[in-house]
Amino acid sequence: MSHQQFYQRIKSTFSIVFIFALLMSTLILTSIFLLDYIKPNGLMAVDNKDTLIINNVNIVSVITNQIVKNRQLVINKGIITAISETNSPITSIARVIDGKGAYVTPGLFDMHVHLYDRKYLMLNLAYGVTSVRNLNGKKMHLRWKQELQNDEWLGSNMYVSSPILAGVGTHVLNQQVLSPKEGRQQVREAQSKGYDLIKMYGYLSADIFEAIIDEAKNINIAVAKHGPHPAKGADWSNLKDLQSLEHVEDIFQGPLNYQFDHNKLQLIAKKIKALNVPIVPTLETFKHLTELSKNKDNFINTLSLDYLNPLHYDIESRFTVNRWLKDTSQQSAYHVKKLQFLLEIVKALNDHQVKILVGSDAGTMYTLSGIATHNEMQLLKQSGLSNFEVLKAATINAAQALEIDHEYGSVDVGKVADLILVTNNPLDDIGRLKSPFAVIKNGQWLDEAKLKALKISAKDNDNYFWSFINLVEDLLTRAIF
Ligand SMILES: [Zn+2]
Repeated sequence: MSHQQFYQRIKSTFSIVFIFALLMSTLILTSIFLLDYIKPNGLMAVDNKDTLIINNVNIVSVITNQIVKNRQLVINKGIITAISETNSPITSIARVIDGKGAYVTPGLFDMHVHLYDRKYLMLNLAYGVTSVRNLNGKKMHLRWKQELQNDEWLGSNMYVSSPILAGVGTHVLNQQVLSPKEGRQQVREAQSKGYDLIKMYGYLSADIFEAIIDEAKNINIAVAKHGPHPAKGADWSNLKDLQSLEHVEDIFQGPLNYQFDHNKLQLIAKKIKALNVPIVPTLETFKHLTELSKNKDNFINTLSLDYLNPLHYDIESRFTVNRWLKDTSQQSAYHVKKLQFLLEIVKALNDHQVKILVGSDAGTMYTLSGIATHNEMQLLKQSGLSNFEVLKAATINAAQALEIDHEYGSVDVGKVADLILVTNNPLDDIGRLKSPFAVIKNGQWLDEAKLKALKISAKDNDNYFWSFINLVEDLLTRAIF
């Protein structure tokens, strides 16, 4: 081959690569632009126009731990307008429903989830989880939130944190913060973009950590912090009055320094109580990794993985699940021991009257929306909370943490009708809430057939391509703006 031929070949190869790159970037940018208009199949319509009168129900009070029997519930335009004796006279045109002696509780809140698909919000709803707090916000979540607020489709309410603010060396899906000034800027930007709260990691340097909290307080945006202890070198008082602290596992890894120290645990629980901040234990995600580590594929085979978004499934199987599947039996035994201790941490916190919230970390590994929430509630029960305390953790405690308890969190006149109906008393067995007789979302009656339809549709997730475009949009918007 002559020199001339060689250069010619290089030139034509370069042209092909260039044209290919140009086409790909045009495709990706056009697709990002289309994200505002493209929606997956099978979303369900919001229809809460009917006034509902539900006779013959028992109201579970999450405030008094009592059951108010034989009630009639009137719901108009999504709001509970009356609670009176069953079969009270009907004064307006309404759809009358026989509650058949069902027990009514508020809809559940999962305060720690990771959403990768609109359908996850439908699955949550099918399990009575009427509100979720998503703790790794991306632009797509703000889009979904807006769609839900416009009543474009039926799903759980959603509170969205900022992208996770983390320190040097964090992975690309989190937001790296390199200086206190940048931390303050990120907080202001998150608020102006419409995020509901700031999510921060623990391994930030003390000055950045303090700057983020200080700026959030200045502009009045809530903060949830990963790990119930301050960044290294920062004072505990920084944590006072935050919205929540996440993961009891971090108490074990942080202040307890990986020691199964029962006495020191009591001192730490006391210290946390003084902060006046609720804790989201996220036991379910640790239980889940313990199962993966111990029972491997036998455990995976028990999960309904067809509820997972295909890209999300791919990322989790490559980057997180595989890690636990490689564990030795010795490592699994350690996780089993640690899980027991995490339950003990929750018990110590509850004994010290630290407010507990339900948060499953659904979306991590193969944990599934809604199902993980009920698993978390079972684990809280196992750690020593009563059925009533678990129900409070999943309802009124969450509404108080989000400062929306004037509208949500209990079955009371004037509050939004996000409710669960179960056949038998959930205060005798909290597991009953997993199989609702019906769910009411913002005044929309969802009977068993409708809940089943939500679950079926939840298996038809967004496709790989559009999920990938959402991911690229997140990376690009954070890199450029
Ligand atoms: Zn999480």
